[in-house]
Amino acid sequence: MGSLNIENVKKAFGPVEVLKGIDLDVSDGEFVVFVGPSGCGKSTLLRVIAGLEDSTSGRVVIDGQDVTTIPPAKRGIAMVFQTYALYPHLTVKNNMGLGLKQIGTPGAEIDKRIDAASVMLSLKPYLDRRPAELSGGQRQRVAIGRAVVREPKLFLFDEPLSNLDAALRVNTRLEIAQLHRRLKATMIYVTHDQVEAMTLADKIVVLNAGRIEQIGRPMELYNSPANEFVAGFIGSPK
Ligand code: ADP
Ligand code: MG
Repeated sequence: MGSLNIENVKKAFGPVEVLKGIDLDVSDGEFVVFVGPSGCGKSTLLRVIAGLEDSTSGRVVIDGQDVTTIPPAKRGIAMVFQTYALYPHLTVKNNMGLGLKQIGTPGAEIDKRIDAASVMLSLKPYLDRRPAELSGGQRQRVAIGRAVVREPKLFLFDEPLSNLDAALRVNTRLEIAQLHRRLKATMIYVTHDQVEAMTLADKIVVLNAGRIEQIGRPMELYNSPANEFVAGFIGSPK
């Protein structure tokens, strides 16, 4: 299970309010995409959900539990970053298993989960390699695999395709969509790319300057943008 409720979340850095009161409900199994221009607060919102930033006020509730003051490792989330964030000195297998090892998961269970995830993500041939010996697409699949083995309630992706070239972007996007169908997991995905948003999302959240402009299914936003901003960003001309 992996529902998420965000209640009136605000975040300021010094005098600058970057999130100005965000309310959002995500159901178990939903694929929700945050879109909006650079600097509008997408990563900050994701980091508040993850617990990597404390909000200034408001609540974050995962699966009915208020996690607002709970540290990231105990929230049942796994995050995938634009820059992969793999350990260069560790093999693919050890990168994927490290988090589980640190929380005391038995070795046999770790191996079983790595095996299943590496089949799903076509990583079997690369398990003994180090990140430097992989392409960007393969590295990002390892980072996704590392998230999968944790069996999180919530997957958080922050522009996971932004460092990949065009062909790999399409490919990796399809892998993420397939993963969502297989795992039926709740996924929150940040991008500034309209095509990614339109193709991946059950529900799109359009952010602008720290506020939500509109929430809806892709075709709802496309056909009925609430305002000029949404129309300009994803909708047809209004
Ligand atoms: P996005 O991911 O949508 O591009 P961010 O959430 O990264 O936007 O940033 C939103 C705003 O908050 C930006 O103006 C950014 O400069 C500012 N910001 C983000 N992180 C910090 C920080 N740690 N300290 C100060 N300002 C920050
Ligand atoms: Mg960002």
